[in-house]
Amino acid sequence: MSISESLAALRQNIESRNPAEPEFHQAINEVFETLSPMLGKHPEYAEAKLLERICEPERQIIFRVPWVDDAGEVQINRGFRVEFNSALGPYKGGLRFHPSVGLGVVKFLGFEQIFKNALTGLPIGGGKGGSDFDPKGKSDNEIMRFCQSFMTELYRHIGEYTDVPAGDIGVGAREIGFLFGQYKRITNRYESGVLTGKGLAWGGARVRVEATGYGTAYFVQEMLAANDAGLGGRDVIVSGSGNVAIYAIQKVHQLGGRVVACSDSTGYVHDADGIDFKMLRQIKEVERGRISEYAERRGASARYETNGSIWDLPCTVALPCATQNELDAEAARRLIASGVVAVAEGANMPCRPEAVRLFQEAGVLFGPGKAANAGGVATSALEMQQNASRDSWSFEYSEQRLHEIMRNIHTDCFETAAEYGHPRNYVLGANIAGFNRVAEAMLAMGVI
Ligand code: NDP
Repeated sequence: MSISESLAALRQNIESRNPAEPEFHQAINEVFETLSPMLGKHPEYAEAKLLERICEPERQIIFRVPWVDDAGEVQINRGFRVEFNSALGPYKGGLRFHPSVGLGVVKFLGFEQIFKNALTGLPIGGGKGGSDFDPKGKSDNEIMRFCQSFMTELYRHIGEYTDVPAGDIGVGAREIGFLFGQYKRITNRYESGVLTGKGLAWGGARVRVEATGYGTAYFVQEMLAANDAGLGGRDVIVSGSGNVAIYAIQKVHQLGGRVVACSDSTGYVHDADGIDFKMLRQIKEVERGRISEYAERRGASARYETNGSIWDLPCTVALPCATQNELDAEAARRLIASGVVAVAEGANMPCRPEAVRLFQEAGVLFGPGKAANAGGVATSALEMQQNASRDSWSFEYSEQRLHEIMRNIHTDCFETAAEYGHPRNYVLGANIAGFNRVAEAMLAMGVI
């Protein structure tokens, strides 16, 4: 059987053994499409059934999360933790609280996380978790009761040497605080390294809040620089207005670009004068408001739209930072027609496969999420490092480390793509570089 035939057979097998998990299938396909050149060079990977093993999570945990709302009514949600691969270190990956969370979403995120974490060069395996709980519209007390119930089951599966969750969509510093408090209370251990994204006063790391967005901006800057271009003076669009988007906007501005639009799930705002980062952060992070309020407060330069898509607007750099599959083929065509030169994924898998193909065919530089948004998890690993040594680094030093890691990830992807005969194909470079690292560790450890 040829390599592509055996990949197709494996893909079919995974799809039939894991039905109704379309996001997981999509993530598998995206990786498989790029691995052939590497598998040809490493027949020992196929002999050891490495691909089959990597696609099967080491452990999947699904649990009931009962809690009582403010009206005294009992509510039941479903909790997930998928511990995908621990060849390089303890499972590491965020928790997502969103009504769309199901096993397929958690597995797609966990699978991507394995290679992303490998690319950071730091000792972390891959995992992901979450719940179909919707934090929107819930009181602080309801959030706390939910988090406590969630941790009452999760605590027995995690630990600083086992599995280290963090935040993701719907899980920020407030939720990590409630989760950590409950872990500490149940275990009677102040085990700082069990969760990352903690507050600065109790074991958190400087730059963790900013890291994913900053890292995405650094990555796109590196992609442009490697192709004799720069970010300075460019009009940039950033979708979303959550943790990743806010700090991508700040760093793009610091690097000389101008972000002219951002969004949330109900609409987008176009600001002809460039997004006012301080106002945006105040509304979204401090007041937990909506993007429509930004337009109201900002005045004449800003326009709020609920019709159409943020990708209808022209730009030369696009940073999708909201959620999976938010940028489709039609949006990609419009962006290409408007002259986009670089796209980097701040979110996980925000571009549909057809959109990625169109960008690549049009010669647009495309940075996949597992490389472009790896700054968040890398800084989480630095948080674990600080916790283990009971240390706390300065903002400047932490940002310098982040910048260095993003530069190294870029170089790794760029050089791997060239080595395998596909220059500038960052998707192929990221998949092969990440896969290689995990595969070599698994080979060394035998059949586990
Ligand atoms: P947040 O919950 O802080 O923000 C998510 C943002 O996306 C919100 O503005 C939300 O709007 C918006 N959004 C959600 N769905 C849609 C939609 N269908 N259309 C338009 N906007 C939408 O999450 P994060 O910023 O933490 O995460 C964003 C992405 O980045 C996710 O894919 C996540 O997995 C990924 N990521 C996050 C990391 C981190 O460190 N936080 C690390 C690496 C990746 P609304 O408020 O209306 O829901």
